[in-house]
Amino acid sequence: MTASLVVPGHTIMHLDMLTMSAASITVTVVLGLVLIFTWARERESTFVGWWGFALLLQAAGVIIAAPSSLQNDIDLVTFGTALMVLSEAVKWQASRQFAHHRVSVAWMLFGPLVFLTLAHTGYLSGFDNRLVVICTLSAVYNFAAAFELSRVDGEPLPSRWPTVALLIVSGLSCLSWLPLNVIMPIHEVVAVFSSNWFPTVILLTLLLRIALAFVVLSMAKERQEMEQRTNALTDALTGLPNRRALFEAADVLAQERAALGGPISVLIFDLDHFKQINDRFGHAQGDLALKLFAARAKECLNGSSIVARLGGEEFAAILPGADVGAALERAEAVRRTFARSAAIIDGEPVGATVSVGAASDSGLHSDLNALFRRADAALYVAKRGGRNRVEYLGPEDAVSFDELAGSVRAAERLLTPLPPVLPTHEYAETKLTA
Ligand code: GH3
Ligand code: MG
Ligand code: MG
Repeated sequence: MTASLVVPGHTIMHLDMLTMSAASITVTVVLGLVLIFTWARERESTFVGWWGFALLLQAAGVIIAAPSSLQNDIDLVTFGTALMVLSEAVKWQASRQFAHHRVSVAWMLFGPLVFLTLAHTGYLSGFDNRLVVICTLSAVYNFAAAFELSRVDGEPLPSRWPTVALLIVSGLSCLSWLPLNVIMPIHEVVAVFSSNWFPTVILLTLLLRIALAFVVLSMAKERQEMEQRTNALTDALTGLPNRRALFEAADVLAQERAALGGPISVLIFDLDHFKQINDRFGHAQGDLALKLFAARAKECLNGSSIVARLGGEEFAAILPGADVGAALERAEAVRRTFARSAAIIDGEPVGATVSVGAASDSGLHSDLNALFRRADAALYVAKRGGRNRVEYLGPEDAVSFDELAGSVRAAERLLTPLPPVLPTHEYAETKLTA
């Protein structure tokens, strides 16, 4: 009942079957509890809670089945083994949950029920048949869990592929029992328990279990961090990227453009008389108008454009690859579509409209900050010109408009990293000659 790790001339470690089993069960229970406590504390990742529950089921199954098999209590052995199969099924469903697929209790119980049905027919009374069935079911569940996690798209979680790899190794290690069982059929469980290699198998299985618990935990942590980052970069009301996200994207674009060149345009949108809309129809209607604008802008500015809410009733878009013509066409589409769909909101004649300022550049080293300043000045012109319109300023116009104190102040506010929700523009009452 002991195995030894040996180097020539020295026995370096004795692995005793009972000690190994007790250690394996203890570690499995502790791991299970750690995962369940982690889930209970944060309530973020149900996946981690399910995995912890699976580990407890695994430990309970071994505690029930192992002593009973030595005493030939076949009913308890069957029950304990069914719990072990259920444990693998729970891990599979946990992985489905992590991959945002539906969890099915029916499928979770399918494997254990197959096992119990076979046990009922008497097919599983021999250890060899029991081994074949439990190993096959466990391997299938491990591969299915690996498959589910391999399908989680669009989330760069560094621990995901190590988890998939470990699940495949687990599945393969279950399958490796099948040829072994054919080469040297094991009819009596005592033959396994008394073999000197079995403690080593327990040790390796335990190491795999520990490694899996760690990667499962870190995968959940990575997702949590990613969600926190996404929330920090997303506007809660409209779901659009916020101002910080826009300027992060602008930095990346500026670097790309330094290498690739090509035209680029910037649009700045400001809803017209929004204060009055709030006053007349209520803040809730105002919020609906903002959401409606976000939806229409996304529809009209799809592709590689980045649309963001700068704060309040102000939005901006960067259109890589769009020259003046394309930018004005899209800005006009947003203005027209929004005016049409915001004429009546929720049964009320809100009649919201938007003014748009546009700026464009086709030079290799265009300065995005300068483009934003120019688009902001163009927006000022649109407001002064009567609102619900698109205005464009070329580089040659910018000099004179930059000189306007109000516009420059507004532009500076736009470009300085400030808290997420900006105060809205207060346009200077300067007389303009466009
Ligand atoms: P203009 O046509 O010159 O842009 O006038 P305006 O009334 O749109 O501009 P002003 O800056 O005076 O008012 C902006 C208003 O937007 C004031 C503020 O209460 C409102 N607002 C800002 N954020 C939100 C929001 O999240 N929801 C709602 N409902 N209103 C908001
Ligand atoms: Mg406004
Ligand atoms: Mg404003």
